[in-house]
Parts: sequence; structure tokens; C-alpha cells
Amino acid sequence: MKKPTPNEIGQGYDAFTDLLDQLWGENLHHGYWEDASDDVSVKDAADRLTDKLAGLLTIEPGDRLLDLGCGIGEPAIRLATAHKIEIVGVSISGRQVERAHDRAVSAGLADRLSFQLADAMDLPFPEESFDIVWALESLHHMPDRAHVLRQATRVLRPGGRVAIGDFMLQPSADGYEAGAARVNEASKGVLSVIGRDAYLAMIREAGLVPVASEDVSRHTRPSWVKAGERFAALREQAVPHIGEEQFDLTLARFRAFSEEPALGYALLTARKPS
Ligand code: SAH
Repeated sequence: MKKPTPNEIGQGYDAFTDLLDQLWGENLHHGYWEDASDDVSVKDAADRLTDKLAGLLTIEPGDRLLDLGCGIGEPAIRLATAHKIEIVGVSISGRQVERAHDRAVSAGLADRLSFQLADAMDLPFPEESFDIVWALESLHHMPDRAHVLRQATRVLRPGGRVAIGDFMLQPSADGYEAGAARVNEASKGVLSVIGRDAYLAMIREAGLVPVASEDVSRHTRPSWVKAGERFAALREQAVPHIGEEQFDLTLARFRAFSEEPALGYALLTARKPS
């Protein structure tokens, strides 16, 4: 199935920024719930996922971090609040870049945070110019993960680190391939997922050494249910934008994903050899 191009992804994020605010909030990524009885808010659960990923990394004062697919800047603001680091965020959505910048100014962090419109497939940065490359729930959108990982290796200094939060294919009763096909079909090609071993091999082929890999599927799965509930409540606002048919498809997709055993989620880190 044909994946949307980076420009199409950017146009989608630009066009639906208000709806996305209401659907996901300021973090455009999944939440982390301890278990079914955990009643933490969506915002707190999403911040928790940011913190979990950051907790798998060594972050030193003065580090320069590249945020690939920065959304409206909430993870960057959270990271820069917790650590005295400099962050450059890139997004394929110009509207997100403007909003991330405005939000960094409001947070009093504009001296250490900057955002720019760029395609992660073609990073406009010199070699060895970052200590950390961070990609939270963005690589699945990009046409070629392996290519983006090679780009990350290029812009990292030796000894630099990579942090990834991404969807990951889980073995299901009918096998890997059937699960991958279901996810690909239900998402219309947006969620192309691969299994853990394939992911780790791709990280190695990009010239990186895998460090941590944590399967958090059980903890992020409630996000699909909650997204479905919120989206259902947005019907009146969403239908004029995307039409009835697309609305129903999207809602059905959230529901299908919440029950799809093959669709998992992983936090991964790696380092570039010194
Ligand atoms: N990491 C953010 C946003 C996740 S949403 C957060 O957790 O809040 C996915 C992000 O990836 C969006 O910002 C989208 O614009 C960005 N993205 C998708 N494809 C991209 C590409 N080819 N280059 C740069 N950014 C891209």
C-alpha cells in the first residue's frame, strides 16, 4: 500500500491542527498507563511516555538534541525543562513549527529551543553536530526508516545517542505477516510496522549499537481506546473537515487498533560508536 509522502503528511498536520489539539492534546503521541485501573489523565500519561524514553538515555548538561518530528514542541519543552540542554526540533508541518516556536517562547525556553521546517529524510545539518537524536512516534510516518536512521548516524557525534518511540509489530497467533498485513491495511499504509529483530538489525545497519529496547505495548494500548472515545465526541467538528466516510473509517481504525494484538509499541535507544 502506498505510504503518504512527507509533504502529504505535513499538509495533513497543517490542515487538522485544531482537531488534533482536541484529539491528542499538546503531546502528539501515546500515553503510558501502568494497568487497566490507572486513571491518570491523557496529558500525564503522555508526559510519562516522554519521561520513560528520556529515562533510557544518558542526558548531560550542554547536550545538543535533535528532535525528529517535533510536533508542537511539548516533548522538547519537557526535556529542556528537566535538563539544561539545547534542542533543535524539525517537523514536516510548517504550522507545527510556528506553534512549537511560540510555545517555547511562552515557556521562557526560546534561548535553548528552536524549531524548523525540514524533512527528516534529508536533514539540513552538518555531520557530527548533535549529541542526541530523539524521534518520538514520528519514524512510522517517514518513507524509509533505515534511511532516516542513517541520517541520524551522520549528524551524531561519535558516542552520541539515539532515542526512539515507535510502533512495533508483535507476534500474533496467525504469525507476523498476517498481523503486519492487517495493520497496514487498517491504517491505509500509514502504520507500516516491523518486528523487534528487524528493527534492531536496521539500527545496526545504520552504524548504531542498540542499547535498550523496552516493549511497552501493554502500557500504551489504552491510548487507542481513549483516542476513539475523544474522536467519537468530535464528530460534529470533524465531519465538515474530513467528511462522514473518512470520519467513520478513522473511528473504526482507532477501535480496531485498540484490539489488534500485532500492533505494539517499543522504546529503543542506541549509540554511535566512539
Ligand atoms: N514527537 C512529537 C510529534 C509526534 S507526531 C510528539 O511526540 O508530540 C509525528 C511528527 O512527525 C509530526 O510532527 C510530523 O510533522 C513529523 N513528521 C512526519 N514525517 C516527517 C518527515 N518526513 N520529516 C520531518 N518530520 C516529519
